[in-house]
Amino acid sequence: MSADPTNPRPDLSVIVVTHNGRQKALETLASAQAAQGWIDAEWFVVDSGSTDGTADAIEQGFPAVRVLRRENRGFAAANNVALERARGRYVLLLNPDVEFAAGNLAELVAAMDARPGTGIASVLQTDPDGSLQASIRRFPSVLRSFGEALFSYHWPLGRGLQEPVAQGPRYERPGAADWMSGAFLIARASAVAEVGPLDERFFLYSEETDWCYRFKRAGWGVEHLPVATVVHHCGGGSDGALKPQLTHSKMLFARKHYGRPRAMAMRGSLALGHALRVISGTVLGVFAGAGHRERARHEVAALRVALGAPPPYGPYAADGSPSVPSTERSPADFDDRELREERYRDRSENRSLLMSTYYNVKPLLPRRLQLALRRRYAVRQARVEFPRWPIEPILVERRQATLRAELQASGADALPTVATWPEGHRFAAILTHDVEGPKGVALVREIMAIEQRHGFRSCWNFVGDWYPIEAGLFDHLRAEGHEIGLHGIKHDCKLFESRANFEAELPEIHRKLREWDVVGFRSPATHRNADWMEELGAAYDSSFPDTDPFEPLGGGCCSILPFFLGEMVELPITLVQDHTLWEILRRDTIDLWTEKSDWIAANGGLINLIVHPDYLDTPDRLRMYEEFLVYLKGMDGGWSALPRDVAEWWRLRRDLGCVTDGPRAAHVVGPGSERARIEWLDAEGTATASTPDPVGAR
Ligand SMILES: [Zn+2]
Repeated sequence: MSADPTNPRPDLSVIVVTHNGRQKALETLASAQAAQGWIDAEWFVVDSGSTDGTADAIEQGFPAVRVLRRENRGFAAANNVALERARGRYVLLLNPDVEFAAGNLAELVAAMDARPGTGIASVLQTDPDGSLQASIRRFPSVLRSFGEALFSYHWPLGRGLQEPVAQGPRYERPGAADWMSGAFLIARASAVAEVGPLDERFFLYSEETDWCYRFKRAGWGVEHLPVATVVHHCGGGSDGALKPQLTHSKMLFARKHYGRPRAMAMRGSLALGHALRVISGTVLGVFAGAGHRERARHEVAALRVALGAPPPYGPYAADGSPSVPSTERSPADFDDRELREERYRDRSENRSLLMSTYYNVKPLLPRRLQLALRRRYAVRQARVEFPRWPIEPILVERRQATLRAELQASGADALPTVATWPEGHRFAAILTHDVEGPKGVALVREIMAIEQRHGFRSCWNFVGDWYPIEAGLFDHLRAEGHEIGLHGIKHDCKLFESRANFEAELPEIHRKLREWDVVGFRSPATHRNADWMEELGAAYDSSFPDTDPFEPLGGGCCSILPFFLGEMVELPITLVQDHTLWEILRRDTIDLWTEKSDWIAANGGLINLIVHPDYLDTPDRLRMYEEFLVYLKGMDGGWSALPRDVAEWWRLRRDLGCVTDGPRAAHVVGPGSERARIEWLDAEGTATASTPDPVGAR
């Protein structure tokens, strides 16, 4: 197959993105393959979550087509899945409702070969009845969007005041264009490598406008090449229900490429256009029946988008920034280690534009406005598809599946393993506090007293050089059995911003760890980078949430168990942060904490909570924290430990082995094995400790 790297490079990679519409897609592929001509081509279909069997039907009917199944993240993202894999000298983005009427792909490739300066091109596109579609377009502008708002296409002389180039001689011969309808676009691979893939912030519409704009800006020709004619069945996005999406995409394009004043003017024009159509549709609806009223409804929806409502599709905020970590590979494609190290997260520049902008301007905003913005955004963040929030079970499920496979292979009814936690505990729990400022420092003693009343000890992470810390506080905490940790040197969140920053601050971190005699690190604002953590020189770090879409750096390691980053133990943060719970989500109960704790305990994981003393500043919040302590205390079989003890155990456990002595008989070997227990895992994944300790042992 074409994926074979020993094959010579194909001339063309054809990419079809499907989302239902099986019959049309099959016809498109049949027609395009028949029109291949004498060139070598490879074929991709990216199926965006079809539910009508499109992907299966294509696999059966077209063995040469490589079918990639993905969830629906929009047209641009789907094309990029194949673009990344395409090896052809050219790529063709082909809509699944297009058929060849004249000419073929070989002639098109030959025409591109003859025009080395042309980066991207399209051909003649017609309706099924043969009438020409206005596939040649002008770039959006303030004047054009204003003209279109005022129905310029109905004016005798208004033709220039719209994006589509009307029928005429421009379609008969090759010629430069601003952009062309994306139903059929051929692009030169070397130009794509320079320009980059489609911008995935466009869920539908305008992605081709944006792409052509970028080709032009990079100096590549954008050209209409009438060497072939294709019939585009659902031409022109005439589906009224998608009108709000189109409006959203147009606004996004303007914001991306034009300055703020022009983008605002175009947005105003869009709003004006929709408002005029709502009015006219409503008036005409009185005389002309349901069709007009239906259109008026779509115009109202589009008007709302122009005024700031979110678009119908796309996991994106109203300003177009993604709230979902976009993956070219689906989570299932990553192995456990890659997931833990957040390799699925795309670090490219566009990703968290909104959030990084927000954090840049945050110091300038009044606190009430900050919170209002964060709350609005949080609704979207909570809908993230991966890692799912508040529970991402992928690693738990994989562990269970592996176990079932091992059991089956062994033929036994249960397998022995070194229990996850020492002394027969079924889960572990740690309490941590990041002290952000003087206000937090002042509350330490009160909070520790509450914890101790319920028999808990916790870890207090202080910032190295950020606020005064009263003399004797560390000694007091330690004397009472608590742990001190390092919460960065400064709380300016610059540590992981660049390698230079990191290396500049590293010596001070090493010095502070020694000076304070602490072994644990928590990064300010949980900024992190799996590749660098080990260099911090701490015994453990606790900066990776298992899943947390709300933090400045979204994502998560998907793990509710500790893991190694090099020689450093990572203790994932597994409960929603107090600040998120109270300030962002505005919950007045601790259900999110207790329900997740139950799930973690049921799966033998680590409960790791961050509570900021700085935010425990009301009786209500203190009461909720205490309520959680009481709940935790009531959970059976938990190991309430300090983070440094958990890290030490994890290191010790790594070197323990399990020796089977016979059916249902095994023992642990290695240094410290007296703390360990054997667990028997059966087909249900149920663990039975061979030497159960008293229930609730702590
Ligand atoms: Zn902090």
